[in-house]
Amino acid sequence: MSKWKCDACGTVHRRNPSKCRSCGHTVLSPYHGDGEAGERDWVRVGLAVLAALVLASVVVVALVVL
Ligand SMILES: [Zn+2]
Repeated sequence: MSKWKCDACGTVHRRNPSKCRSCGHTVLSPYHGDGEAGERDWVRVGLAVLAALVLASVVVVALVVL
């Protein structure tokens, strides 16, 4: 279920209101929730760890070879 986030104050609404209930701002953007963003963050962390491991093994191999 998509939510709507106020561009002005950041309040998240369950439905797209004609205006923000907190500040009256009329521009709201689709908001997909923290769960999805958190999942993307975990993928990024996993890729960073993988890159660090590859870099570390390359350094170890280079040290062994030299
Ligand atoms: Zn607002």
